[in-house]
Amino acid sequence: MRDWAKKTILASGALRLAGNLHGRSAAILMYHSVLPDPSLQADSLGGIVHSGSAFRAQMELLARDYHPISLDQTVKHLRNGEDFPKRSVVVTFDDGYADNYEVALPILDQFAVPATFYVTVDCIENKRLPWPSRLRFAFRRTKQTSWTDSKTESTTNSNPESWNLGSPLNREEAFLAACDSCCQLSGAAQEEFIRRIEHELQTSLPGQSGSLMMSYDQLRELAGHGHVVGSHTMTHPNMAQLKVDDARRELAESKQRLESRLGSPIKHFSYPCPALEPHWSERTLEQSRAVGYETAVTTNSGLTRRGDELLCLKRLRPTKTLEGLRWNLESAFAGRTV
Ligand SMILES: [Zn+2]
Repeated sequence: MRDWAKKTILASGALRLAGNLHGRSAAILMYHSVLPDPSLQADSLGGIVHSGSAFRAQMELLARDYHPISLDQTVKHLRNGEDFPKRSVVVTFDDGYADNYEVALPILDQFAVPATFYVTVDCIENKRLPWPSRLRFAFRRTKQTSWTDSKTESTTNSNPESWNLGSPLNREEAFLAACDSCCQLSGAAQEEFIRRIEHELQTSLPGQSGSLMMSYDQLRELAGHGHVVGSHTMTHPNMAQLKVDDARRELAESKQRLESRLGSPIKHFSYPCPALEPHWSERTLEQSRAVGYETAVTTNSGLTRRGDELLCLKRLRPTKTLEGLRWNLESAFAGRTV
């Protein structure tokens, strides 16, 4: 639908009226990074960055026109089988970028919006960006004109896969193919995969990009401001594509590490969705329960309602603009698919 049509519908109040007729639900919003100038990190972070000014405008809108609640309040409503307060919204961040602390936190606190920050533990501890950023940077910045996946070359049964890197589109396709393979790996095998590709492409992210991740001190401060810290795994794989033991390790080790470093229980988990679907399954749901998580959020789109399973909660994408956020929220509350 065109922007002017959306504006007209929003201005008419028809969606808001329809929203009043639907059962009370909560919209869990999924943010990643908030930077003063998103274009500066486009070759590593890609399209997951909100500008500081857009984020401020969105939080102001949530505080004024909606009802921001914390994840713990969300759990309470779900456990008690209660309806949510009207127009409830929950703000969450994935990955653990330093800008969450430096740029987003003062804005959240100014508008009294509680948030949950799901962090990738290996990235926090080793000061490196999650692997999709490292791969994206290597494919976008390499001076090589082609890339042959040496893994397929060494496999006797399959032809080596070669990619022309002559255009941005070709590079994106090669990057996405590499992501499909990498998302099935975790831990040391994943790190080996990334380093092999960086070597083949003769390009890797500069070391200072590690400062884009939060520190444990910053995480403790977030918690001190009343916000929630949760786990986003150790190494950001697609959990549903991992072997059983690897998936369990990602769930359990990240929880234990965060608990010992932050000195408080870690009850909430967020499923990475770096490539391929599904990104969670009945098996991972049972594993997350066995490890002791109370809730888990996915990247499946939708609202949270009374009776929902706490270990596979849906989320909404906030989009990058104020009008886009309003449209997605009003449409979702009115019962439309976003
Ligand atoms: Zn992530």
